[in-house]
Amino acid sequence: MRKPIIVANWKMYKTRVEAEQFCEEIRPLLAGQDKVDAAICAPALQLDILKAKLQNTGIGVGAQNMYPAAEGAFTGEISPRMLQDMGIDYVIIGHSERREIFKEDNELIKAKVKSAYEYGLCPILCVGERLEQREAGETVEVCAGQLLSALEDLTAEEVEQMIVAYEPIWAIGTGKVATAQDAEDTIKALRQAIADKYGAATAEKVRIQYGGSVKPENVKELMAQPNIDGALVGGASLKPESFAKLVRYQEA
Ligand code: PEP
Repeated sequence: MRKPIIVANWKMYKTRVEAEQFCEEIRPLLAGQDKVDAAICAPALQLDILKAKLQNTGIGVGAQNMYPAAEGAFTGEISPRMLQDMGIDYVIIGHSERREIFKEDNELIKAKVKSAYEYGLCPILCVGERLEQREAGETVEVCAGQLLSALEDLTAEEVEQMIVAYEPIWAIGTGKVATAQDAEDTIKALRQAIADKYGAATAEKVRIQYGGSVKPENVKELMAQPNIDGALVGGASLKPESFAKLVRYQEA
């Protein structure tokens, strides 16, 4: 059985004081909750606050990006070694905002995924198609291509442990959600692509999330799909009450 995992992606929101306030409020709201894994991926400048304030809560802490080198002349970047040093659990890799705005390609993303494992970080690998690719019927081809490229240098054991987030670009921050059935169909196809390359037993263990305008109102229907194991959530993760409702979707 794959344990569901709901992850907040705060993107470039929240000051340190706001992050601290969020932690104070989320602690009681998620106290005692252990049916679903929960994590918050925050801007790098807030990670130390989350680590300190979420201690012993079971809520994981993640970064939103990293550069695939231990250290070096990479001005402005953060290394996996630095994240490991801080005790960070997860790192989002290949978010569509990184692919589209910062022109990250599959080669760089592959190197980042490999590097995350070298430093004990669990990658949350994002894949997703543009609207025109969906309309041209290329969704599975595009997403499976991004996925298999990123997995190329991994062992089956590493593949099993990773988290994949299927995030159609047209659904991110737009209020347009893929139907639960559409999300399920694509995620099922991605699981099959993993099975074809690494075997069914490995594919059955990989947790694959859906992301794109997930809210407390639609999370239950998405999570009811057999292949959807969680959600990566931007906008609706910024308020403690809303994030707590997402994590506690089974109780609604
Ligand atoms: C995201 O940031 O990965 C995301 C899915 O954003 P939103 O939930 O706001 O669409």
